[in-house]
Order: sequence, then structure tokens, then C-alpha cells
Amino acid sequence: MNINDTPEQAKFRRDIRAWIKKNVPARLQGRRQGIVQGPGIPAEEYAPIRKALIREGWLAPSFPKEYGGAGFDALQMIIFNEEFQRAGVPGPPGGTGGLNNVSQILFKYGTEAQKQRWLLPGLKGEITWCQGYSEPGAGSDLASLKVRADKVDGGYVINGQKIWTSMAHKADWIYLLARTDQNAKPRQKGISFFIFSMKTPGITIRPIITIDDHHHFNETFYDNVKVPEDALVGKLNEGWTVAKALLVHERLNHIAANPQVLGEAIQNLKSAARSTAQNGGMLWDDPDLRRRVVQLEMDADSLRATRYRSVTKISRGEVPGDETMVFKSFGCELFQRIVAVHHEVVGPAGVIWGNDLFGEDAGEIAMHACNIRAATIRGGTSEVQRNVVSKRVLGLPDVGPGSRSD
Ligand SMILES: Cc1cc2nc3c(=O)[nH]c(=O)nc-3n(C[C@H](O)[C@H](O)[C@H](O)COP(=O)(O)OP(=O)(O)OC[C@H]3O[C@@H](n4cnc5c(N)ncnc54)[C@H](O)[C@@H]3O)c2cc1C
Repeated sequence: MNINDTPEQAKFRRDIRAWIKKNVPARLQGRRQGIVQGPGIPAEEYAPIRKALIREGWLAPSFPKEYGGAGFDALQMIIFNEEFQRAGVPGPPGGTGGLNNVSQILFKYGTEAQKQRWLLPGLKGEITWCQGYSEPGAGSDLASLKVRADKVDGGYVINGQKIWTSMAHKADWIYLLARTDQNAKPRQKGISFFIFSMKTPGITIRPIITIDDHHHFNETFYDNVKVPEDALVGKLNEGWTVAKALLVHERLNHIAANPQVLGEAIQNLKSAARSTAQNGGMLWDDPDLRRRVVQLEMDADSLRATRYRSVTKISRGEVPGDETMVFKSFGCELFQRIVAVHHEVVGPAGVIWGNDLFGEDAGEIAMHACNIRAATIRGGTSEVQRNVVSKRVLGLPDVGPGSRSD
């Protein structure tokens, strides 16, 4: 990608900027969005903006127009997101509730009826999703999963247990991997990809409460859950290909690997350092701290430039290179480093949960310092990502299980 816009891109950018100016009241622009990406604007004030976004097909702008999107290509998406970021306005919730990831799969593997059933309602925010991949004993080594789906008259019957099923207690639908051929060799060949309603009889959801006292995770149990024939997405026993394609999207779109979000987190860190007094001056006067922050900025810029390179290839119809394999782990680890330095800047206040005592940043930092650990685990751990790079890019010998990378 040319770092400078072409005349066409410049016009596109101006149009997005003008739209934001017209549809987002000035007092709501520039609202601080938090260290990660809080709404920053109260829900009731955001509602009319959301409606305007839906009218334009901008809630998921990369969707084709016939499915309610705007048909933006990868480069247009970068400009679109940059402009929302620049204006300090929370943009469309691209990845919310798995919408973005599962939609990409439906575009590629879904039948027309499946697309009609799930894409538009998903886009309008009428349905939410959860992911049923991991099991006790099948996380990194996902291909060893044991949940089974047996063919019966009119559909399949699903039995077994999943774990870490994020937001299962709120989701309307689940996309789930199940073993449909018990004897397949290699194991990946006997897995299929299903979508079904979380209201289907036989599903039990048991909460797992995390360190931050939130209910995000669940164990989910499937006891003779009968799903229809058309719950199957893609071909029978070829679900591994579908599952992997979804994981690629999950890793590419991971919020913590988004250079704009990283850039914003660094800006927040800098303002905290600029406004914290130390030894008669400000923390930001400390040359060592500034050197470390500059290093973080350089790393975020490298990620941004490398992503531009991949996106340019995608927009030319080419396949992006091996660099995409490091986006998730590099971005998430960089995010952890940013939060660690911010935590240090906030000082002892950073261990307080809640904002009352030490001003509005403090509680948020403590929470993110805990939450950000999860970024290098979900969607494939950093160690497993490194295995992928060692095997596929560097040509080193296989190191055994870790089949999320196979
Ligand atoms: C915030 C969050 C949300 C999640 N949401 C969902 C969800 O909605 N649905 C879902 O299905 N799952 C979800 N998960 C689960 C996630 O996909 C798994 O936690 C992840 O794949 C790792 O699996 P595991 O926890 O079983 O760890 P394990 O696979 O047991 O790994 C344990 C440790 O061993 C290391 N390790 C494992 N194999 C290798 C190897 N071959 N080489 C080197 N090191 C290795 C790992 O890196 C890790 O450090 C979520 C996880 C998190 C943190």
C-alpha cells in the first residue's frame, strides 16, 4: 500500500470524514475510548449513530451489499477504521459476538439459505454467537476433540462437553466442532462444523467466573442434542478446513493486534505519564521511560506497515505471505508490554479495582493488566503460533501436538 492515499482513496477518506461530522455530534467526537475500546459514549447517545451506520450498511462494511454491508475492500476498511479512530468515535462493532468471523465462513462455505438465515439478522444485531471449539483436553491440540455428532434420521445428535465457551449464556447460536467419523485418520478428517440454536433441548450451560469477577466463560454440555441436517456448514467430515479458516480470521481481526487500538493505548499511556508528577517534574521527563515508549511506538508502526503490506496483497487478489502468522502473537504481546508500562506509570493505584480513589484510569489499568493475559491464549496460544512459524516458515521439525496450527 502506498502510505499516501491515491486521489480515489483521498476522496473516500473525505467522504467518511464528512459522514462522521454530519452524523456524530461534535460533543461526542474525541470521546476517550478507554485503554482497550470501551464505548466512551453512553449507549442511549450511541443508538442514533448505530442506526445511521446500519442505514449505510456500515455496521459490517466489508459485507457485500446484498447481505446488508457496504462491500468495502480491505484498503477501504483500513481508511474507514482510521477515520473513526481519528475522530475518537467508536466505530462499528466488527468482531462483536463472533459476527465478523462466522460471517466470513458463511460467505465461503454456507449455502444460500444459511447465508440468508444468519447474515442479515447478525448484521442488525438481532442474533449473537458463541464458539464451541475447545474441550477439556482439546485446546491447542484441538484435533483431539471428543464431542461427537451421530447421523440420525433428519439430522445429527450431538453429545459431549465443551469448555471456555465465551458468552454461551447470552448467545443465540453456536458454531461447534464435532467428530463425525470416529475412525478417521488423520483425526482432522473426521470433524464437522455445525451451527445450531443455543435453545436446542439438551444443552446445559455452567458458568466459570474469572479472576476479574466476570461471567464471560462457560462449560457447555450437550446431551442428545438433536440438530437438523442443515446445521452442517460445509461438507461432512471436512469441518477442519472450515474451522481453520475461521481461526485465521479470528487471529487477523484480533482486537489486540489492531494497530489503531495499539496506537490509542500508547497515546493513553503517554497522557498518563505527562500528567503524573514526579520529583518536581512529570514522569514523562524521564528519558528511560520515553525511550521505552518510543520502542513500543516503533513496534506498533512496524505491525501497521506489515499489515498494510498484507492488506495490499489481499486487495490485489493475491494471497498474503507468512507475515500474517505473527500478527496475533506480536500484536497481543505488544499490547501486554504497553499495559505493563502503563501499569508502572500509574504506580500503586494500578492495583485498585474501580475508579473511585485514584482517578478514572486506575481501576481500568488493573482490570486490563489482568485481562490482557488472555490475549496470548485465546484463538491459539503464542507458543502454538511460534510452532507454526517454526514449521511452516522456518522449515524446522514438527514439535508434536498443537493441532490448532495443523
Ligand atoms: C479469553 C478467552 C476466550 C476464549 N473463548 C473461547 C471460546 O469462545 N470458545 C472456545 O472454544 N474456546 C475459547 N477459548 C479457549 C482457547 O481457545 C484455549 O484456551 C486455547 O486454545 C489453549 O488451549 P488450552 O487452554 O486447553 O491450553 P493447552 O492447550 O492445554 O495449553 C497449555 C499450555 O501449554 C502450551 N502448549 C500446548 N501445546 C503446545 C505445543 N505443542 N508446543 C508448545 N507449547 C504448547 C500452551 O501454549 C499453553 O501455554 C478462550 C480462551 C480465552 C483465554
